[in-house]
Amino acid sequence: MSVQATAQGARAAEPSTLPAGVRSELAEAVGAEHVLVGVAINPDTFTDESLHGLVQAPAAVVRPGSTAEVAAVVRTAARHRVPVTARGAGTGVSGGCVPSAGGIVLSFERMTAVLDLDLAGHTAVVQPGITLADLNAHLARHGLVYPVFPGTDASSVGGTVATNAGGMRAVRHGVTRSHVLGVEAVTGTGEVLRLGGAVVKRSTGYDLTQLVVGSEGTLALVTEATVRLSPLLGHSATILAPFVDVDEVAAVVPQLIAAGARPSVLEYIDRGTMKGLLRTNDLTLGVSAEVAERTGAYLVVVLEGRSAAEVEAELELVAALLDEAGALDTYILLEGQGDRLLEARENAFWMVKAAGADDLIDLVVPRARIPEYLRAVSAIAEEHGGRVFGCGHAGDGNIHFSVYEPDNERRHALLTAIYQAGLALGGVISGEHGIGAAKKPYFQELVDPALLAVHRQIKAVFDPAGVLNPGKVFDPA
Ligand SMILES: Cc1cc2nc3c(=O)[nH]c(=O)nc-3n(C[C@H](O)[C@H](O)[C@H](O)COP(=O)(O)OP(=O)(O)OC[C@H]3O[C@@H](n4cnc5c(N)ncnc54)[C@H](O)[C@@H]3O)c2cc1C
Repeated sequence: MSVQATAQGARAAEPSTLPAGVRSELAEAVGAEHVLVGVAINPDTFTDESLHGLVQAPAAVVRPGSTAEVAAVVRTAARHRVPVTARGAGTGVSGGCVPSAGGIVLSFERMTAVLDLDLAGHTAVVQPGITLADLNAHLARHGLVYPVFPGTDASSVGGTVATNAGGMRAVRHGVTRSHVLGVEAVTGTGEVLRLGGAVVKRSTGYDLTQLVVGSEGTLALVTEATVRLSPLLGHSATILAPFVDVDEVAAVVPQLIAAGARPSVLEYIDRGTMKGLLRTNDLTLGVSAEVAERTGAYLVVVLEGRSAAEVEAELELVAALLDEAGALDTYILLEGQGDRLLEARENAFWMVKAAGADDLIDLVVPRARIPEYLRAVSAIAEEHGGRVFGCGHAGDGNIHFSVYEPDNERRHALLTAIYQAGLALGGVISGEHGIGAAKKPYFQELVDPALLAVHRQIKAVFDPAGVLNPGKVFDPA
């Protein structure tokens, strides 16, 4: 990531310095070599991967090495009313880890250990800074996987817990929330809470673990996570099904699930996005020119199992259903082809970013309502004159739209209409990317005011001084 690339059209970063005395207190907490200021700060920490060009230099980057050090940093920050923004890998796409002017970035880059691995109980206790790639490399040696796959495995466990990340495989495995059994977390007063633990059921007081999951660093900083693991499945197959109409794709998704199929991936890719993916990734999938010409949208289905026979049986069921639902053809992709298509789909974000998209949204609706929602969005795009392309986690009802409308006011109106249409169908603003700073205006405008008031009350309990990631998700009253 480079700041130059993400800063296009960004507001100028405000100057950023710490109040007197704070730097020495931080140095006492974590060691002077782990308090970075001025030119020692890597400009990557000014921003994340969101398309909005949100850029802000922090007054300091602090790199604690333990929970006790995190707590000491937060206590100093609370005493001096200095904002603290947690940073994992900075791959977020909602501006969640963009710091506040005059604030501290608390980087978890030194807290990357696997503290415990229970092979019998299929759980692990990990520090938040470990990336998904490193955790899964460690687990693969034991035939296990942490089945949380947002589009990039460079994400950290702490960041994925804080955003309740999803990704293509959530349709089978569930989102991050389903895999977090407990957390150790530091509140805005510097208190260390141990929530949940390596048990699979619990009916003991409020479920504060799940309150922290998805709270985007605004309630508490996660310093350890106890996560549930799964066995690695050794066999898979990828099916590509072109349909004339995006409505047909959307309609077949609930049918597949209702018929008992358990796909690991159920992605829809519209014609325009697929063309871009094939071109930018130099990919051919064997779809004839005649079929490609008639195709409005594609469905990608990945099946996984412990044996080839299990995958084969499911393949037959799914292929028959796709055929009945009107697929123009059903392509079983060769192993390398399937992997490359999934990789290209995961990298669609970079394609959209390079193409100059002005926003990327990830609204989610009940999956049976996807056809209605897609129709509504086409009509809205036409009415507003903006260009909107879609792909997404169809199995979860989670559609990712890339939006091309450079004018801020017009884009706000277009996005408000798109969000309103989704909410009217029982949807929510973000399925997995979080609200951060980028979607805050829409969240505040469109969510029930009573709900917003409860959010503010909960924030005040965990973070009375308001120092944890202020200005993210919602503003103070
Ligand atoms: C190419 C690409 C594809 C992507 N595809 C998907 C996708 O399919 N699904 C999906 O869900 N996401 C996707 N994302 C978004 C991103 O990967 C996720 O949001 C991820 O969870 C961010 O993790 P991170 O470590 O980079 O967090 P960061 O960006 O560093 O931080 C994200 C938020 O978490 C907070 N935070 C970080 N660490 C902690 C902690 N220890 N305690 C408390 N708060 C903390 C930050 O303050 C911030 O609010 C994609 C991103 C890219 C670049």
